[in-house]
Amino acid sequence: MALNIPEIYGSLVFNDKIMRSKLPKDMYKALKKTIENGTHLELDVANSVAVAMKEWAIENGATHYTHWFQPMTNFTAEKHDSFISPTGDGQVIMDFSGKELVKGEPDASSFPSGGLRATFEARGYTAWDPTSPAFIKDRTLYIPTAFCSYSGEALDKKTPLLRSMDTLNRQAVKVLHLLGNKEIRHVTTTVGPEQEYFLVDKDLYKKRKDLIFCGRTLIGAPAPKGQEMEDHYFGTLKPRVSAYMHDLDEELWKLGIPAKTKHNEVAPAQHELAPVFDTTNVAVDHNQLTMEIMKKVADKHNMVCLLNEKPFEGINGSGKHNNWSMITDTGVNLLDPGKTPAENTQFLVFLVAVIKAVDDYADLLRISVASAGNDHRLGANEAPPAIVSVFLGDELTEVLKAIESDQYFNSHDAVQMDIGAKVLPHFMKDNTDRNRTSPFAFTGNKFEFRMLGSSSSVANPNIILNTAVAEVLRQFAEELKDVPAEQMEKAVHNLLKETISAHKRVIFNGNGYTDEWVQEAEKRGLYNLVSTPDALPHMIAEKNEKLLTEHKIFTKAELYSRYEIKLENYVKTLHIESCTMAEMIRKELLPAVSACMEQTARTASLKKSVVPDISVSSETALLKKLTALEDAMTEKLDKLNEDTKDAESMTDPLEKAKTYQKTVLADMESLRESADAAEVLLPDSMLPYPAYGELLFSI
Ligand code: ADP
Ligand code: MG
Repeated sequence: MALNIPEIYGSLVFNDKIMRSKLPKDMYKALKKTIENGTHLELDVANSVAVAMKEWAIENGATHYTHWFQPMTNFTAEKHDSFISPTGDGQVIMDFSGKELVKGEPDASSFPSGGLRATFEARGYTAWDPTSPAFIKDRTLYIPTAFCSYSGEALDKKTPLLRSMDTLNRQAVKVLHLLGNKEIRHVTTTVGPEQEYFLVDKDLYKKRKDLIFCGRTLIGAPAPKGQEMEDHYFGTLKPRVSAYMHDLDEELWKLGIPAKTKHNEVAPAQHELAPVFDTTNVAVDHNQLTMEIMKKVADKHNMVCLLNEKPFEGINGSGKHNNWSMITDTGVNLLDPGKTPAENTQFLVFLVAVIKAVDDYADLLRISVASAGNDHRLGANEAPPAIVSVFLGDELTEVLKAIESDQYFNSHDAVQMDIGAKVLPHFMKDNTDRNRTSPFAFTGNKFEFRMLGSSSSVANPNIILNTAVAEVLRQFAEELKDVPAEQMEKAVHNLLKETISAHKRVIFNGNGYTDEWVQEAEKRGLYNLVSTPDALPHMIAEKNEKLLTEHKIFTKAELYSRYEIKLENYVKTLHIESCTMAEMIRKELLPAVSACMEQTARTASLKKSVVPDISVSSETALLKKLTALEDAMTEKLDKLNEDTKDAESMTDPLEKAKTYQKTVLADMESLRESADAAEVLLPDSMLPYPAYGELLFSI
């Protein structure tokens, strides 16, 4: 049966078309004004919208509604209320008021708050984000909301994200007006997150505690085949995967998520999905939903979708690419080199602003993607290094060099420059030089931030990116605000020149995977914050606190609470991994090794009992190897347990995280070596858990 995509697309979304048809004209207009300009929503409008939403939701099978929010975990949260309202005569009516639409009060005492919200006033409230559309899932009307404490502190990821979009809007509009582009009223940021994931068979998954508890394997010898043949990337989809992807697309489309591209990734069993980009807060909501639906649809297909950054050792991990740009209310992409000299100037101002922002706040960008899982990727030769640098490509780098040296860009004869006097080359959208090793690459009309881990919300990096760029634009506006019109061109040129000269160190077009780059970056004074505990202290550095508080993204208390939550998450993740590994070794692998030794010893003595002078050298050799590995594992297991206990007893959160990273993680690596060596010696029939080969190649 043919699928009518235009018909199903957005069929579960309370979108503009539905709003227009369901709402009285004046109410529709008032709501649109709120959505487009962020104006206050009057109660009568809220009531009218609530009635329309309820009717539409009930028509589409919904019985409940929920305020859907994004606490400071990587997950979303929801509390369901039914629409029923008893009428006193044993009957009910289906009711939903404007007040219930606009504000909710989940009992939120168990969400991480980093000490922000004393438990005696555990109630936070959720507030509708009318710029992200409501939708129906599992017969429930989902209302996207922000989550705050009663004293107004943000307890979620959406509130600071909306604040960051707002500050970028204000600063960008200011700069555009100064550049003479006075009709612009609004600038929004856009995001298209490409999402990587693994699919494994559910029955195999259930046999591995590490996958169940940690989402990644903690032990496991490599399969005879990995990704070395490079035969998986963009390869033909296997029928089971293809069926999954079709189902997934359909579910996403119904929710108005524009899933566009899907393909196999580099590692076996690894895949990618990319949607068409959208306004940042909508893209963030959609990415959260996408991750959830990916898991749900996998379950239906008797598979499990792994979003962990490093599910398997020795093959690529999973990330997320955050494609980002800025667009005006007149539809101009500010990172698209224009066709006229004036557009060029504007493009260069915004381009250079992003470069400076990345250089000034590289540490915050690194932190925005920091997690225990992502630490296994960044800097391994498969993902961008932990050093944040910007890829521009040769052509654009030349343009900036020309500006810096007062030369007009012209590939053949450089002449005295007067920026704006000549049209820049229109950089090809299909920039052929796609440097995959760069963490922050210009790709023709947008930047692609590639350090994100696959499991994290994309909110954090966008909060930082928006705010850092807003701050640079604020500085630019400050510099240009008193310049008379006839001197503007010169002033802009000087501003660009100075900025390029001060921040060109962050531009790097070479191979980011090499050791030479690590050394070169150090010489240039760039950060190389290798692990999460290395990076996190920078979060509360003075310049970063200043940025985030002055732009009203976080109060100081909010910032510190987030810092503590990040440290806590790191420690908790490593603690769970340590305990899981210890359990697998003690309860599964060591008994399997024992059983194998017993069988081997029995074989040897049986052989001898039949033929007394027979050789048992292979049994003896195996027994010796297994005994040595058994001893090593026992010893290393004791050390892991001891060190974990010591780390756990520490009270200073940063010291604790550092100890986990230095000792516990190292213990786990060392234990894994012995475990994987033992695994190789066991016959398949005695393996206590499915091996890599089975996990990666059975679908
Ligand atoms: P890749 O080669 O890395 O897969 P694509 O050209 O396929 O890159 O685009 C990747 C993502 O970039 C898509 O999600 C796309 O919608 C998004 N994208 C394109 N233009 C913009 C933009 N102006 N702002 C944000 N994201 C964008
Ligand atoms: Mg990409």
